[in-house]
Amino acid sequence: NLAYFNERYVRLDEPVLPVEERGLQFGDGVYEMIRLYRGVPFTLKEHLVRLEQSAQSVMLVLPKTVEEIAAVVLAGIEKTGIGEGTVYIQVTRGTAPRNHLFPEGVPSNLYIIWKEGVPVLEKERTEGVRVFTFPDERWNNCYIKSICLLPNILAKEKARQKGGHEAIFIRDNEVKEGTSTNLFIVKDGVFKTPITDQSILNGITRQKIIQILKGHDIPVLETRLTMEDIEVADEVMITSTTQEVVPVVKVNDWVVGSGKPGAYFLKLMAWFQMEVDLASLG
Ligand code: PMP
Repeated sequence: NLAYFNERYVRLDEPVLPVEERGLQFGDGVYEMIRLYRGVPFTLKEHLVRLEQSAQSVMLVLPKTVEEIAAVVLAGIEKTGIGEGTVYIQVTRGTAPRNHLFPEGVPSNLYIIWKEGVPVLEKERTEGVRVFTFPDERWNNCYIKSICLLPNILAKEKARQKGGHEAIFIRDNEVKEGTSTNLFIVKDGVFKTPITDQSILNGITRQKIIQILKGHDIPVLETRLTMEDIEVADEVMITSTTQEVVPVVKVNDWVVGSGKPGAYFLKLMAWFQMEVDLASLG
């Protein structure tokens, strides 16, 4: 494991952040989480493009070009020798005396964390998980990957306390996404996932999965979904960089389909693995 803060490699437990740091005081920053397979960052370019878009959306100037950030990411992988793990990138609006107004002439802070190991989701994938729905109390710009995640962590914690694996946000009667995952359902052989307006994050995994499904001639519909769609769905699954694809077998008290991970989940998981192998084995 290794971290990096503004041009300097540091230990994960090293105190490097000044107290007056805008990420700490305002949650004034954006981030990305990238997965390493066999030491190769999966969909690195897509993540860095989204980092740049997130930064632009909040008028934050990255301290480096995405190419330079990519080079730092790769250098850290080389340095740590991590095979299976993650790279977390965070950019904040710098260090300055606390003031809501943007500081002038202050460079943004870039931190990166390389971590060995990924969550083991064997049981979750063989048995499926339960999720709970919650009213979406987040702001209206959830397409930005902002580090302000208080509503997300509160909802996920509440779901966990009820024995759930993830919380799913409902807004204006529509099923949107999880606290750190996107959502797909399958109905009569058609995959459906919420449209990406400003109310959800367009997950890189979501985009990859849509591409994979289309490549296998599986119809995918980006549409508005409600709880009624969940209740008639044959399968439900959640997706993210760190969790890949996880089958959902219970939504609140509603048992999805057969109550077991479905055939489409198994197919998709195998196709996703093939995609990862292709990217990491060259
Ligand atoms: N939605 C939200 C709110 C998230 O935080 C994440 C994970 N960062 C996702 C969806 C999944 O995105 P990705 O596939 O890019 O990890």
